[in-house]
Amino acid sequence: SPTSVVRLRTTLDNVPGYVPGKPAAQRADLTTYKISSNENPYPPLPSVIKAVQEAALEINRYPDMGVVALREALAQRFGVGVDEVATGTGSVGLLGQLLQITCEPGDEVVYAWRSFEAYPIVIALAGANGVAVPLDSDSRHDLTAMADAITDRTRLVVVCTPNNPTGPVVHADELDAFLDRVPDDVVVVIDEAYLEFGRDHRAPDALATYRARQNVVVLRTFSKAYGLAGLRVGYAIAHEPVAAALRKAATPFGVSDIAQRAAIASLEAYDELAVRVDALVTERDRLLTGLRQLGYAVPDTQANFVWLPLGDRTPAFAAAAEEAGLVVRPFATDGVRCSIGEVEATDRLLQVAADFIKR
Ligand code: PMP
Repeated sequence: SPTSVVRLRTTLDNVPGYVPGKPAAQRADLTTYKISSNENPYPPLPSVIKAVQEAALEINRYPDMGVVALREALAQRFGVGVDEVATGTGSVGLLGQLLQITCEPGDEVVYAWRSFEAYPIVIALAGANGVAVPLDSDSRHDLTAMADAITDRTRLVVVCTPNNPTGPVVHADELDAFLDRVPDDVVVVIDEAYLEFGRDHRAPDALATYRARQNVVVLRTFSKAYGLAGLRVGYAIAHEPVAAALRKAATPFGVSDIAQRAAIASLEAYDELAVRVDALVTERDRLLTGLRQLGYAVPDTQANFVWLPLGDRTPAFAAAAEEAGLVVRPFATDGVRCSIGEVEATDRLLQVAADFIKR
């Protein structure tokens, strides 16, 4: 970090930087694809564009700070009370809010690693101590080890299912056994950013789990299956005191009117969006099968991406993909995550993978 004359929080030195997926460079010789940020490749639905256009006429006004219409729509859809719903500027915004309402400096947050790269960032920003518990050999959460990692200082546990960037879900029975071991006053957030892409019957019913347990929070987003990544809107289902605290900790007017109305229109159009999700799931399974046939040890994935645990060969694979006009997401020397995008991107990725394994 650059040296500063003014005094900044020393905690900032511990905050890792967020490295977003690079945009795909324009090339004269071929169409390039960005498959690095788990975005939905489909353009917005006409009904969503119409909602955005209508909202655009009123951007001289602040949005509804209470986000009431969207919260009501979510409450109705999921059979919870409107007071059990909180929204944020993306689910990553809600994660920050969750840290603020649970952790004093020095408190502990248990999470799996490797998982979503924003976790260590929001934890460090809050001055809390992250306790990263390694995934098991199948790239899945080791919920036994996570329960063992809980101490008197633990205030929050993050369970990411399906796990970004590796893909598998936690199993319902494992989650229940885990939750039985978590003290009642420790919040457990189930981050289901990729829920809609899941087809594994062993996955938990997070809402049923939430109803049965006062300390569970369910976190979801409009960025992936709903295709609204650019509008920054996520939501949490939480028991009333927690949801009220989350709303208190929100950036005032943080979810724009454009985002609120687009999210409502997307909920209304979910049947149409589900057809697209199904197509992406088919494409994901084609990619997973193809990569495994080539000899890659790809873990199961229930999300809109696949994980290639390539170790030291991670940067070389990312470079080979880029050469072929594909921007993928390398994570240090752990592996490469490739999002499901256009059919042509999948075809090309399989070709890159076939050439790479022969090297
Ligand atoms: N949780 C997980 C597991 C994610 O992968 C992401 C996005 N990469 C998010 C939360 C945040 O998504 P958003 O802020 O766009 O809702």
